[in-house]
Amino acid sequence: MSNEMPALMEMARPSAQEQQRVEALRAQLRNANYLYYAQDAPELSDAAYDALMRELRELEERFPELLTPDSPTERVGTEAVNLFAPYPHRVSMLSLDNAFSADNLRSWEDRLRRQLGAGPELAIEYICELKIDGLSVNLTYENGQFISGGTRGDGLTGEDITPNLRTISALPKQLRPLSSRASNGDNSVIPLSEGAEAVPTPGGQGVPARIEIRGEVFMSHREFARINGEAEEQGGRTFANPRNAAAGSLRQKDIAVTAKRRLDIFLYAVGECEGWTFQSQHDLLQAYRVWGLRTNPNVRVCEGIEQVIEFCDEWSGKKGELPYDIDGVVVKVNSFSLQRELGQVSSRAPRWAIAYKYPALQVRTRVESIEVQVGRTGALTPVANLTPVALAGVMVARATLHNEDEIRRKDVRIGDWVVVQRAGEVIPEIVEVVKGERTGDEIEFAMPANCPSCGAQVVRAEGEAVLRCPNEECPKKMHERIRYFASRMAMDIEGLGDKQCEQLTQVGLVRDVADIYALTKEQMLSLERMGDKLATKILDHIEGSKTRPLARLIAGLGIRHIGEHSSEVLASHFGTLEKLAAASVDELAGVFEIGRRTAESIRAFFDEPHNQRTLSKLHKAGVRPQSHDSAPHSDRFAGKSFVFTGTLIRLKRDEAETLVKHLGGRASGSVSKQTSYLVAGGEAGSKLTRAQQLGIPVLTEDEFLQMTEDITEESDLA
Ligand SMILES: [Zn+2]
Repeated sequence: MSNEMPALMEMARPSAQEQQRVEALRAQLRNANYLYYAQDAPELSDAAYDALMRELRELEERFPELLTPDSPTERVGTEAVNLFAPYPHRVSMLSLDNAFSADNLRSWEDRLRRQLGAGPELAIEYICELKIDGLSVNLTYENGQFISGGTRGDGLTGEDITPNLRTISALPKQLRPLSSRASNGDNSVIPLSEGAEAVPTPGGQGVPARIEIRGEVFMSHREFARINGEAEEQGGRTFANPRNAAAGSLRQKDIAVTAKRRLDIFLYAVGECEGWTFQSQHDLLQAYRVWGLRTNPNVRVCEGIEQVIEFCDEWSGKKGELPYDIDGVVVKVNSFSLQRELGQVSSRAPRWAIAYKYPALQVRTRVESIEVQVGRTGALTPVANLTPVALAGVMVARATLHNEDEIRRKDVRIGDWVVVQRAGEVIPEIVEVVKGERTGDEIEFAMPANCPSCGAQVVRAEGEAVLRCPNEECPKKMHERIRYFASRMAMDIEGLGDKQCEQLTQVGLVRDVADIYALTKEQMLSLERMGDKLATKILDHIEGSKTRPLARLIAGLGIRHIGEHSSEVLASHFGTLEKLAAASVDELAGVFEIGRRTAESIRAFFDEPHNQRTLSKLHKAGVRPQSHDSAPHSDRFAGKSFVFTGTLIRLKRDEAETLVKHLGGRASGSVSKQTSYLVAGGEAGSKLTRAQQLGIPVLTEDEFLQMTEDITEESDLA
């Protein structure tokens, strides 16, 4: 075939490395297929699986000579395991190609137009349906009676699970004929949607003579929680997610077990069909509904791909509100005659449909090393350094491992391949180790016996999972405490950031938070990259922080178990620092929202001589916190209103809103003309669309944080 290619466009040849990669990908995917379909014990997340499949498909497209008939890209799944009787599908169950972005959808539409020989003027009508994350099944109904049903298997033959399917209460054993629904009781055909009619063949009884009805069996979040809760109580095996739970329940030899689990089903497609004609996917869904089959209500007919993209965006923001999992949107060409015209690609996937997948929030990468961080309370936290990998638009290079017990429980070793997940938290988390990838060279990790910063012997308190550095003079602990004290969560001292705090503690100028107030200009100027103007500014801000509200100071002290909210509670209850410091454990525990453990921790803090010295130094330095009020401590955002949407990475939603309030602005839940800024995190949905329509400036989370910090540089320039 290369003879026909112009000389300059010579066909690329795969390198040895690329050939090896293709082989490795195939092996991985085959193994994953086996575990997923045959064992119900997937080791790969769907997102990781999709990524591998995509990489393989891309390589095969670039180097068609590498494509073999047995490649996983050419097959839907693996052969059905020989536990249940084989269930051959009369019309094979195809898989769908995936789209991962709006642009992917647009180029799919371009391809459709080319195949139809049409130009951009052709408006294609699509239908969008939510992609339910469950198990695909094929059901046969004859003259309205449920006869049998099977899993998808390899797309040609699945497993016969008829008795299991019968236990699903949402699945009708008998279809309700159309005629019985007609008000006048005759056999006239009732219209299913505007402009189109379902056409029963002559002699039809209001149901097809025979039909293969396809759908997805799934489990609701609630049922999933119930089953896992019970399994946990009885010491049984819990399921990783609702999808696995649905699959495990459906493929049960013991039907009594299946019956006890409330599985649910949505029907949305057709295989072989005798004695009925559908005009479009929309008509099919309407007919299903009338026949008494459960269909998903969140369906939309769209004119052109841009409306499809809108639907996808909308559900990206709303999908968390559903009582079950979806992993995307299935987009189909609505008209069945257009579908027939478009046909399918080889035997694998139809051309007229595509699955739009939401960005992966899970990804696979490797643990390069594990390091131990010391926090402001002295807690030692193991953190995994990962081979950097993109996750929902952010590069992820680290993941918290929480504590030693957690490392043991997940059995994370240095060198392991792991699945990393980001769930709206600041630091991503390791979900699980991909044990199948182990080579034996992985190294088990042990927590150090000594603090990595000061070398003090670490301690583990009774009943606690966390190891701590007990040394009150530990430089790293000090650095973290001072950084937190100066941060916007506490005393909000502009210009005193992480770098400055680190230097100040390293050179020994600051040994506790009170030392900040003794800093001189000469000392400030000795720091790296510190100019006269900036030093003056920072000293001014330090001075200004002396009269912050009491709650800010309480938060800044870094008492264990005391966060921003508890600080507010304590400040409003006690009014002054002196009264708080004098309160007994019983008094403290009597405060609404303060538990016994927190009360003990507060008492212990004020009883500690080191802390008493610090408090007395703060008083001598002239720190006089204002008694509790909710006044903002800056007017930087005065008159501005912010709306937050999507997943924020560095701040929690309520922290971001509190921050806006502290800076004198307003945080609102909905976008209107009065909104000054929309801060859009990952997976932003309808609010983003609305803001764009209204022409409201949209900020990324980083841009927003920049705005809260900018003032130092701004005032320096002024
Ligand atoms: Zn230490």
